[in-house]
Amino acid sequence: MDSTDNCLKKIGTFLLNIDDEFLIGVSNKGIFNRAKKDLEKSEAIKVEVAEEDSALKCILEDGTECVINEDIKAYKCSCPSRSICKHVLMCYLYVKSNLNSLFSVENKSLNENKSLNENKESEKFDFSEFLNIDIESLSKLLGEKAFNEIVKRINFGVEIEIEEASLLTIKFKEEDHVVKVIPNIKEEISPKEILDEVICSCKSKEICRHKVEALIHYEIFKGFIKKEDLVILNKKSKAEKTLLIEGVSLVKKLMEDILFVGISRLPENITDKVESTALLCHSYNLPNLEKMLRSVKSEIELYINKNASFSIASFRKKISYIYTTALAIENCKDENKLYKLCGEHKSAYYDIPPIILYGIGAESWSSKSGYEGITYYYFEENKGNLFTYTSSRPTYYDNKKRNYGLAYSEVPSFGIQGSLEEISQHSIRLVNGKINDERRISASGQSKGQLLEKTDIYKLDFKELFIDNWQKLLQGYSKKNTNLYIIKAESYEKSSFDKINQRFILPIYDAEKNMICIEIDYSKEKKRMIQKFERMERLKKYPGRMLVHTYLKEGQLRVIPIVAYYENGDIVNLTLN
Ligand SMILES: [Zn+2]
Ligand SMILES: [Zn+2]
Repeated sequence: MDSTDNCLKKIGTFLLNIDDEFLIGVSNKGIFNRAKKDLEKSEAIKVEVAEEDSALKCILEDGTECVINEDIKAYKCSCPSRSICKHVLMCYLYVKSNLNSLFSVENKSLNENKSLNENKESEKFDFSEFLNIDIESLSKLLGEKAFNEIVKRINFGVEIEIEEASLLTIKFKEEDHVVKVIPNIKEEISPKEILDEVICSCKSKEICRHKVEALIHYEIFKGFIKKEDLVILNKKSKAEKTLLIEGVSLVKKLMEDILFVGISRLPENITDKVESTALLCHSYNLPNLEKMLRSVKSEIELYINKNASFSIASFRKKISYIYTTALAIENCKDENKLYKLCGEHKSAYYDIPPIILYGIGAESWSSKSGYEGITYYYFEENKGNLFTYTSSRPTYYDNKKRNYGLAYSEVPSFGIQGSLEEISQHSIRLVNGKINDERRISASGQSKGQLLEKTDIYKLDFKELFIDNWQKLLQGYSKKNTNLYIIKAESYEKSSFDKINQRFILPIYDAEKNMICIEIDYSKEKKRMIQKFERMERLKKYPGRMLVHTYLKEGQLRVIPIVAYYENGDIVNLTLN
């Protein structure tokens, strides 16, 4: 009876190692509790060693037949259930608690099991098969796009709870996902098979993002890989690279043509040509070049319409910048740099854990490259990052008058009922949010927001975003490309209006008497804003803080105001009222 011995030994060892948690893990609490209850009520289960394979055949009171062995996933049950049913759990529970009496024969293997039982503490579950899956094959199994998303999520920061017991449990703490791994007993199992056997709470039978992400978290936890090393895995594939080169050479050719002919002799259809190349860049996955081409197109339109803001220097600069970017993409050997040079489409959004965002105001804008819209600014306090939500629409294919009505109606509601004012000035708890690399929040329908209290910006720690010394503003400006700050002015001087340049100028001082200027170029849209500042001056009621854009002009730092914050808690979206 060698095979019986062997079978008993194997299943015995397995049974000693599993616990209730394990059985719940492979099924669920409901089925497990049901199995336990039914077992209490039922009569003894008939257990015999199955003939064909080394397994146990169990016959339940009602005639249901189960075959179980040391591989829980290889169970068989005569009932119609397609997943692990209560019968199987009943059999395991029964055999486990009756191990000794069931096989009362003086059995060597059982004695061995007994000693195993005593040494249970030293018995370790082995998840090494799971750990041994290399990252490259994970990327292949899951697909590049979803894999890149995981890398971004891990960099963003996802809280994980890892528990190594009879099951390896990896919990996404703030999201509702739990991944469970059963210790492997099979030999020579492929990465796909291993991942197929992993149980995910999303119920996916396939390899889902959670399973792969859980594995990567576990590998980091075990010290197999470093978080920093993940970044280089975020890359473009080789097949894609061929396409990139194709797109890039089209762009280069167009730029050469434009430079060769010169702006004054460009053919009439040149804007169409630039637009169609921009569209091609979109399909070739070259978003940066696409954006730049649109901007060149607007520049050419300015020239054609004899608009005073056309500048030949800026035009040439744009053309050569596009050309050098195209060259750089062509010759780039570093995957990470290539990724940055090409840029990403708006669609490259990824899921983030629930987050509290403080609405600090909104701004309306229109761009030379043919878009207009409203951008909402949100602050996240833990990491001190700014997030934005933008609703915009292209204007490059129509000449209709600017109309914010449309953009106004597209508030980032995330299921919240609220006006633009409310949503831009309250804190929001965002669940199932999606963001991209620039921390832009997507308008995804899955995202759900909860409107919390009105933002009190005086209570928030804005870290480096807060500036009350203009020297710091200048230092920060040269280092970072972000040009958005919350500034606190110590005093305001009398404003003036530069009639030649049609510009409102308001000098402001910091505590050390350094001066910078608020400058607002007069336009129909900006008229109200200028009036607002004139009113502040008359009433001597200046805001205590302001959200501003900063920029350098002729070596001087200038600021454009976006939002005014008053000490009484009032928040005014300066470009919107
Ligand atoms: Zn069953
Ligand atoms: Zn899943």
